[in-house]
Amino acid sequence: MSPVRTRFAPSPTGFLHVGGVRTALFAWLVAKHFNGQFILRFEDTDQKREVEGAKDHLIKSLKILGINYDEGPDIGGPYAPYIQSLRLDSYKTWANKLVESGRAYADPYTAEEVQFFRKEAAEQKKPFLYRNHRPSKTEQWDGSKPLRFRSEPKDYAWHDEVMGDLSTTADVIDDFVLIKSDGFPTYNFAHIIDDHEMNITHVLRGQEFISSVPNYLNLHEALGIQPPIFATMPHILGPDGQKKLSKRDGARDVLEYIDIGYLPEALVSFIATLGWNDGTEQEIYSTSELINKFSLDKVQRSGARFDEKRLNWMNGSLIRQMDIKSLFSSVRNYWPPEAADFDDAYKEKVLALFQERLKYFSELTELSKFFFKDLPVDPILISENKQLNKLSGGELKELLNKTLTKLQDSSFNNEELIEKLNQLLDETNQKPAVLFSLIRIAISQAPSSPPLSETLAVLGKERALQRITDQISALSS
Ligand code: GLU
Repeated sequence: MSPVRTRFAPSPTGFLHVGGVRTALFAWLVAKHFNGQFILRFEDTDQKREVEGAKDHLIKSLKILGINYDEGPDIGGPYAPYIQSLRLDSYKTWANKLVESGRAYADPYTAEEVQFFRKEAAEQKKPFLYRNHRPSKTEQWDGSKPLRFRSEPKDYAWHDEVMGDLSTTADVIDDFVLIKSDGFPTYNFAHIIDDHEMNITHVLRGQEFISSVPNYLNLHEALGIQPPIFATMPHILGPDGQKKLSKRDGARDVLEYIDIGYLPEALVSFIATLGWNDGTEQEIYSTSELINKFSLDKVQRSGARFDEKRLNWMNGSLIRQMDIKSLFSSVRNYWPPEAADFDDAYKEKVLALFQERLKYFSELTELSKFFFKDLPVDPILISENKQLNKLSGGELKELLNKTLTKLQDSSFNNEELIEKLNQLLDETNQKPAVLFSLIRIAISQAPSSPPLSETLAVLGKERALQRITDQISALSS
């Protein structure tokens, strides 16, 4: 058996969205599972749609996720070049073979004439088929006119590794353009030539191509080459599980997720499980587990729901598993600017408090601010707290004064703080939701924080007591 070779063949027309990453990831997993090769190829034959910087962006995104290709535009390989705009000679050669065998012809029609044919078909309530208008006499193809495939309509039945057994009637077969008048091939032609020349065994791609497969099979026959194994990816649905995922659903580009502070491992597990699972409840997989367990027959046919909450949960779980030293080095760019004045030992203590609750690294900037900066007293925090806004300023002051007195003779170690805070609850006859919320607001000027005693301990006696004093002064009696 020939080695498994898969490819990811993006058009550099924009950033790498999650659907693209999933196709790349699955193709990579198929190749690695079978000890085969994974190839990156740029399909840039529609030069008008090319977006500057998109190629670099795609490469960077794959690399950051660890989807390493064995051959590709920037690293070469035995079938280089891996950029379609540099492979025009090859398409020409194959196109000429089709011309010689009578399976391709110069398209003589102007756009207006084709428009007229379409209108005519619509009036007769028939589907428009180009092949019904094949010219009886064709001119020599000199490249100035588009080159069209002369199809041989027939029924097809084929197997898709994900979608199962599929079939179509001859009606869908048509004469499609192989080479445009600008000399560039169409996707429909170029990818077939490349997949053949690059010995691709499995073609994984999105659903938008599934209806074209019979035409591709027809072209394979005309070229005298074997089609690859097809695997069509299920749709990715928005968070409601109904419509296809769109930009409005907030799905970001891979590099944006990385910038915000998602771990590549979390993104990979999340994307791998968009439409695939190994039949167990497991959701987070290491790369080697994925390579081991992945198989196309476990990819579901129905749409997969994109749920960012699940991604957040996965990322948070992986953050919690990190040892504090590697977490510390991962978050170095996410501290608030004021943290620059504090030493690493202090920052590490602060970080340990947030490790349990971070969903992604950039949350740290806002959440940890109060550890580095005295924030002005914000009266809204009390007026919007349903427990505290029932109490008068005088009552709140009294609670804070008792807290001050209690904590003044504390050494501020965590165990002792827990004890003192519990005594305060008894002595004031208050619930934690009242007393602890009030102290929390005073020391953090935020509605939530890590556990109170630990927060106080890290903040230190002097700063904590000063903040409680400031809160008292800001309260009206
Ligand atoms: N260039 C196509 C695209 O970006 C790729 C389709 C394929 O994988 O064959 O949509």
